[in-house]
Amino acid sequence: MQLDLGTSKALAAKLSAVKTYGHFINGKWVDGHSGQTIELTNPATRQTLAHIQSGDAVDVDRAVNAAYDAFPKWSRSSPAQRQTVLRAIADRLRARQLEYAMMDTLNNGKTITEAYTHDITGAIGLFEYYAGAAFHLHGEVADFADSTMITHREPIGVVAQIIPWNVPLMMAALKLAPALTAGCTVVLKPAETVCVSVLEFIKDIADVLPPGVINVVTGYGHIVGEPLVTHPKVRKVAFTGSRGTAQKIMNYAAVNIIPQTLELGGKSANIVCEDADLDAAAESVVITTIFNKGEVCLAGSRVFVHKKVREEFVDKLTRLFAKVKQGDPTDPATRLGAQSSKAQYDRVLSYIEQGKKEGASVLVGGGPASIRGLENGLFIQPTIFTDVRNDMVIAQEEIFGPVTDLFTWEDEADMLSMVNDNIYGLGGGLWTRNLNRAHRISRAMETGMVWVNRYYNFKPGQPIGGVKQSGFGRESTFETLMHYTNTKSVVINLEEGGYGDFHAPPPNAFV
Ligand code: NAD
Repeated sequence: MQLDLGTSKALAAKLSAVKTYGHFINGKWVDGHSGQTIELTNPATRQTLAHIQSGDAVDVDRAVNAAYDAFPKWSRSSPAQRQTVLRAIADRLRARQLEYAMMDTLNNGKTITEAYTHDITGAIGLFEYYAGAAFHLHGEVADFADSTMITHREPIGVVAQIIPWNVPLMMAALKLAPALTAGCTVVLKPAETVCVSVLEFIKDIADVLPPGVINVVTGYGHIVGEPLVTHPKVRKVAFTGSRGTAQKIMNYAAVNIIPQTLELGGKSANIVCEDADLDAAAESVVITTIFNKGEVCLAGSRVFVHKKVREEFVDKLTRLFAKVKQGDPTDPATRLGAQSSKAQYDRVLSYIEQGKKEGASVLVGGGPASIRGLENGLFIQPTIFTDVRNDMVIAQEEIFGPVTDLFTWEDEADMLSMVNDNIYGLGGGLWTRNLNRAHRISRAMETGMVWVNRYYNFKPGQPIGGVKQSGFGRESTFETLMHYTNTKSVVINLEEGGYGDFHAPPPNAFV
């Protein structure tokens, strides 16, 4: 990305003008029923950025009905129509890539460089990936001597999609792109703290979508969530967020027995073997600590370093962390921005204090960061704990901040039992030049994803999702379309006449 500080600052100033957003229902921006609004802020300056509607059950009902009415037509749209819409959406994003990146920077506190090169590039890629997939979503045919069996993949219906605040626009893309490809209609609920980019994006693409295909209701999760997920016309819920909220979502989903896909938290291990490229591995620890201020479900927040290389590795880490530029997220040279909200800031700092109380040692950082000119901002120093025991709270719970625990290991089996001794199982990293070990350890890790010799090496179509309490279902891949469709099987008999003796024959596919 070529962006100088002056241009970036000018864009930030332009996009900081305070705006008010309505809900987006049936192709129109409408006021909320409650008349209440929620303030969105810039976490680096704490200034007001926007006001959104505080939605309620009445807004939800209107949005679900709009999606329900739009479903028959959209569900019968051709792959070519869906592909055209998905491509048009990608084009709109690309046309304003820098502006979208800046909106996420201003509202979320992430750096402009990261927002541009990772988040918005990723969102564009997702719409393009699913545009390519549109023609490949179809059923199958199986021939039998007496019959032909057809399986149809039918769009599931109106989908409730609930997303968090850490990668807002990319999260919206992860949810909307497969739903549109599958022929579903949507009610999207973005996070109540960060959603400016999502709302601007919806404004931008409104004319490429038939009214009602995508609807957006903003507001607090505890007010909007239950009426949305329990609405009798909603046929599926796709949720990304915390484990505690997921448990509520599962209860709501039980009301009308609707399927769920849940992308939840993580406490991913990043394993460094004695034969690893230590420079690259140390850099990966810095990246997973500071990337999006550690507000990433996939963060490699538990590092397991082999005893033989520990000293050298720790030395490399401390020297690398000293070079990290933390500060104004709108500065293209900044690599670590501000935590997304005061609640998140307080939560991360309380975990850091907890780690100290539990007896862990602070190798790097260990508290709030003060940034000149942004003294009110929600900045936290990148923090590395050593002398961590696996039963400490900081070793077991997801911190969702720039905090990483360092463990030392000697025996592979002992190390793996520590790695797997966690309720989560989302991502993971492994550093070794030994092929056998690479395969052996990556298979032994109880996790949905493993990156070998490069962390955050995301690939188009890579299934993203977890095992254990990190949730279920996979996103960002073709398999996601299975979550948005039902399979119907139709068997066409080729023979004439009935059975003649009143009993059905055995299922002949099995004889
Ligand atoms: P959260 O669960 O509090 O909020 C996520 C969303 O759920 C928000 O839109 C919120 O308004 C909504 N919500 C809150 N209460 C609700 C309720 N009762 N009913 C329905 N919706 C409700 O999570 P968070 O703190 O905003 O996000 C951080 C969490 O998300 C972390 O645990 C992180 O690991 C997880 N996360 C996971 C992934 C992934 O892909 N696995 C990605 C990003 C974040």
